[in-house]
Amino acid sequence: METIAQRVRNLAEPEILLMAQRSRDLKAKGLDVISLSIGEPDFDTPQHIKDAAIQAINDNYSHYPPIPGYQDLRKAISDKLLRENGLTYAPSQIVISTGAKQALFNAMFAVVDHGDEVIIPSPFWATYMDIVTLCEGKSVIVRTSIDQSFKITPEQLEKAITPKTKLLMLNSPSNPTGAVYSAEELEKLADIIRKHPQIKVISDEIYELISFSGKPVSIASFPGMLERTIIINGVSKGYAMTGWRIGFTAAPVDIAEACVKIQGQLTSAASSIAQRAALAAYEGPLDESIKMCEAFKRRRDIVVDIVKDIPGLKFFVPEGAFYLFPDVSYYFGKSDGKTTIKDATELTMYLLEHALIATVTGVAFGEPNCLRISFATSDENLKKGLTRMKEALAKLK
Ligand code: PMP
Repeated sequence: METIAQRVRNLAEPEILLMAQRSRDLKAKGLDVISLSIGEPDFDTPQHIKDAAIQAINDNYSHYPPIPGYQDLRKAISDKLLRENGLTYAPSQIVISTGAKQALFNAMFAVVDHGDEVIIPSPFWATYMDIVTLCEGKSVIVRTSIDQSFKITPEQLEKAITPKTKLLMLNSPSNPTGAVYSAEELEKLADIIRKHPQIKVISDEIYELISFSGKPVSIASFPGMLERTIIINGVSKGYAMTGWRIGFTAAPVDIAEACVKIQGQLTSAASSIAQRAALAAYEGPLDESIKMCEAFKRRRDIVVDIVKDIPGLKFFVPEGAFYLFPDVSYYFGKSDGKTTIKDATELTMYLLEHALIATVTGVAFGEPNCLRISFATSDENLKKGLTRMKEALAKLK
């Protein structure tokens, strides 16, 4: 009998870890490795949010919070959803969790039964698939292409639906592609979803505040969709608060209640202090978030400006989040005289060793022709790192 349970053995080995290890090894040798693999803002949490946490400690927020989160925070999020997104979710439909990741886990665990199908457009954030595996569901991967800006089309969605489909996973703005679905695109997807009453949508909106061409639209805004959309969001990316671990679910009442039941056994509740900080984030001004978004947009432009002159790279200009996801397949089969590049994973290793930049292979996101470049680092690092990338790629013939 195996010690480790089958559902855990079924989890994929994270592609990203090998790269992280090699990158640490090179840094330990004193080499100037620039990390373009970071999945979090490189800014500090705004001061008024930090002050609220300090205040909470002094006010003795040291007891178990209610399982779904403090009522005033749930109310502040319900107000935010109405004010900024035009969505009506009552405070009782909001569950505060330990990061958007736990919110996502709760939601999937609440609705996915053994054998249920979850449609995941690829490229995707790998955690989606792993959570489906933990829930003993089946991920149905729908591969999208760069020519469709990596967004699932209504035709692709329709074709992927079976009587076993329980969920559609959407992520806009997207990690890793930076794609943002337009209102028209979402409306067409909603038209299909409405025809299949058993299907719910999980809409991961964690990059909402990092959007370069206006506020992203939620699929929950279309007629009949509020009742079947589970929104996942939180403070991690938009307020530079990844370490505080606060995310939330906004869901139909029965699903929100199921999430509370699950959370009651997993964590009891999210950290009291971090919840008070999140309250300050949702009730406070957005100025700092707007500034961070402007910085990401400026860096996006820096990245695009350099990468557009690299032969063979195919990409579209990201509209949100902080990643560029170029197709690098032009370099497959090319060699610098010593190494012949077989795939994107080998190319990331080549770039680590010859350009001293850490990127992430697209395999980690279900797209083996691409790699992910994060621009959550300084303008200077970006210019230096990408210039080195250009030089190293030029040696591949
Ligand atoms: N969704 C996506 C698409 C993400 O990229 C991340 C973080 N990498 C999360 C959710 C999880 O966010 P959190 O840190 O709040 O758990």
